[in-house]
This record gives sequence, structure tokens and C-alpha cells, in this order.
Amino acid sequence: MLKLRNTLSGLVEELQPLEGRRVRMYACGLTVYDYGHIGNFRTFVSVDLLRRYLKFQGFEITHVMNFTDVDDNTIDRAARERVSLRELTDRYIDVFLEDMRTLNLETPELMPRATDHIPEMLSLIERLLKRGYAYVSEGSVYFRVGAFPGYGKLSKINLEGNIAGARVDADKYDKDNARDFVLWKAPKREGEPGWETPWGRGRPGWHLECSAMSMRYLGETFDIHCGGVDLIFPHHENEIAQSECATGKPFVRFWYHTEFLQVEGEKMSKSLGNYLTLRDLVAKGFKPMAIRYALISVPYRRQLNFTFDGLRAAGKTLEGLLDFRRRLQEATCESGASPALTEAVARARAEFIEGMDDDLNTARALGAIHSLVRDANIAVAEGSLRAGDREALLEFLAEADQVLGVLGHEEGELLDSEIQDLIRERNQARGDRNFGRSDEIRILLAERGILLEDTKAGTRWRRK
Ligand SMILES: [Zn+2]
Repeated sequence: MLKLRNTLSGLVEELQPLEGRRVRMYACGLTVYDYGHIGNFRTFVSVDLLRRYLKFQGFEITHVMNFTDVDDNTIDRAARERVSLRELTDRYIDVFLEDMRTLNLETPELMPRATDHIPEMLSLIERLLKRGYAYVSEGSVYFRVGAFPGYGKLSKINLEGNIAGARVDADKYDKDNARDFVLWKAPKREGEPGWETPWGRGRPGWHLECSAMSMRYLGETFDIHCGGVDLIFPHHENEIAQSECATGKPFVRFWYHTEFLQVEGEKMSKSLGNYLTLRDLVAKGFKPMAIRYALISVPYRRQLNFTFDGLRAAGKTLEGLLDFRRRLQEATCESGASPALTEAVARARAEFIEGMDDDLNTARALGAIHSLVRDANIAVAEGSLRAGDREALLEFLAEADQVLGVLGHEEGELLDSEIQDLIRERNQARGDRNFGRSDEIRILLAERGILLEDTKAGTRWRRK
């Protein structure tokens, strides 16, 4: 049974979805005005790991990850580059989707953009105004923090010293004390992107965007909300406040937060010169799967010190695993199975699952694989490896890699996300009665070892 640390309760708890075996989860996505850095990707990889492990455990997933395509940063950057907000954010969404494929991240079921959900945001504000949790001032709308007794329950922020009536217009602010935060912002200057509303032209605050998009697709109460620990306050605290005050219901049952990433022992920052995007690392010649391995090797609940030495070591470890798998695939061995190896595989599998069940303890799960590889290497050297052992070992590696996602991503092999994109394109082509294109895609997938099956519930796929 999977147990996760829930930031809200502060406890490690069993995950039991609201609705049978379906898990509805939301992850705060990237604010799309720049390349994603390695700290962002630590969080996205840890969310991907959660998603993959839930699927491995037989859960059905509805995973929503948004794009924040309107906020202080996106607006400033678009103005600086003299392009429209849409042009700027389109560019960085494309970049991010490519980065996701590079790191073998599965595609969430839904990836909404904030600017496509303004009506949902306005209706949330209306509900808050009607219930007395929000007020209008000089064309902006603010949330009245003092009206929500639950404020601070996620971040455990101390409300003493709260200055009544103090307000903050910025999307991000210091953890000094709680302030009334902005739900809807009047434009700061001429020509800023904006939408017409009953209380004046303006644009949404960052916090409101996530509440509106998550509840739109997952309902007013859902299972898991993910993000980096830096989002706990104020972003997630504010999401809880505005959502629960609008609906009168609990917003989220589990809060899943990924710890900080440091680079060479220091906080990553542009001024320190240790600010690394995924693209910087790939340009330096590091293999994407080595980067992914380095990111998952430390459990998400622990701080990760990301170093170049560590990255090189991750690359070597991964090379060793791939090598081991290659040798197994090429080995010729007699039929039968050795009892010692049969037992070693069963032990490794149980330990892998126990490790992952233990709040996604990836260090333990990877340890189980490495000790199995040591045992198997001894058997290979002694010539005691049998065909049945080989099959069991390869099967276990493939199974574990459904969760880890570091072994299968070889040159020429399609990622799950690419397959899903092609299937979507094929469905579109069929809808448009473009059967030439739809056949082309089926053949392309078949050549890459992917079999399609069209069912009433949609198109299923599996690897040959
Ligand atoms: Zn968010």
C-alpha cells in the first residue's frame, strides 16, 4: 500500500483516492517565460515518478498540469521583447514540451493554459465576493485573509503580526506575515494584456489561476496537489483559502511537495553563475537519461545536491545497468532456472515495491536493483545463469523501468508521450476522414513496434 507524506497533515499516510481506483491529481506547471531549470525539472520528474508508480499499482490517473501563461514575469518579458503575450508563451510551451520528451516525462492527461480559463476565474471571484471573502479596491479584487480561519494550515505560518488591511499585489512575496492577496489585478501600465470584467479591466492573480483550472477538471475536492516546496507559501496556502471559501468544501486531500535542489552545495541563482537549464546540461554533453537518473536517485522528500561529479557518476551507473541488460539479452544459456537467482529476483521485486510504497523512496528501490545486478553478475561469471533466470531478470528490469523511466529511452525508441501524440493525431485524421494520414501513422507505429487496438473506449496501444 502506497504511503505518502502529506504536507497538510505532516504525516506519512496511506493514499486512498476519493473515488475507487481513480486518482485525480494536479501539478503546478511552469510559468512559461523562460527555459525550465534543473530545479523545476526535479519537481516535474518527481511528479512523473508518482504518476508512473500509481499506474504501476493499477490506479487510473487524471493528471492535470497547467501552464501559467499570464503573470508578472510573462507580461514583463513579453513587453521587453516587444512580442504579444501569446507569442512569448507559445514559444516557451513548445520548449517545455520538448524538454518533457527529452527527460522521458509522461504527458499529463490535461495541460490547460491559464488564459484559456478566464471565465472560470471570474466565476470564482464572483462567488468569493458574494460570500464576503473578497473585496474590490481601485479596480483590483483582494482576498480577505482574516476572514478564513484555516489560513496557514498548510504552511503552518504564524498569523501573529498579521497587519489587518495590509495588501500585496505581487504574485510572489516574502513569508513575513499573511496579507490580503490579489485575485484580480488592475493593469499597472498602458497596453498590459487584460480582460473586461464587472469591476474593471485587468488580469488574474497567479494563485487564482491554479484554483480555477484544478477545480474545472478535477472537481471541487480532489486527491493530490503537487509542486515544489517553494510553492507551499504563499501559492498553495492561497489556493486553499480561495478554493475552500468559494466552495465550502475541502480543496485537496494530499499535498505532495518536492524538496529543494541545490547546485554544488549552493542555492541555484543567476547571480552565482550556477543556474542550470536542462538545455545547458544537454549542451554540455550530458545524456538526458543520466540527468533523469541523477534526479531520481535522491528521494523527493530530501534535498538534492546536484553536482557535476554526481551527474557523471549517475551516467556511469546507468551505463552499467544498460550494459548488464545488453549482456543478458545476448547471453546464450541452458534451459531451466537456478533457485538462488529465482529467489534473488523475487526479493529484489519485493524490496523495490516496498521502497516505492515507503513514500517513494527511490534510493531503496534503486538499491534493490543494484544488489540484484551484483548477484546476477556473479551467476553470469560462474556460468550458472539459465534461460529462465535471464527471462525473469529482463522482465523485472522492464517492470521497474515502467516506474523509473531511465532504461527504455534509447535512440530510436518512441516515448509513451510521442506514441500518445501520434495516436491523437491519427484520431484527428480519422475524424477529418483523412484515411491516408491515419494509415500512415498506423504503419509508422507498427514499424516502431507499437500495436494499436481501436475499442469503444478509444484507442489502446501496446508494445510488440
Ligand atoms: Zn499553481
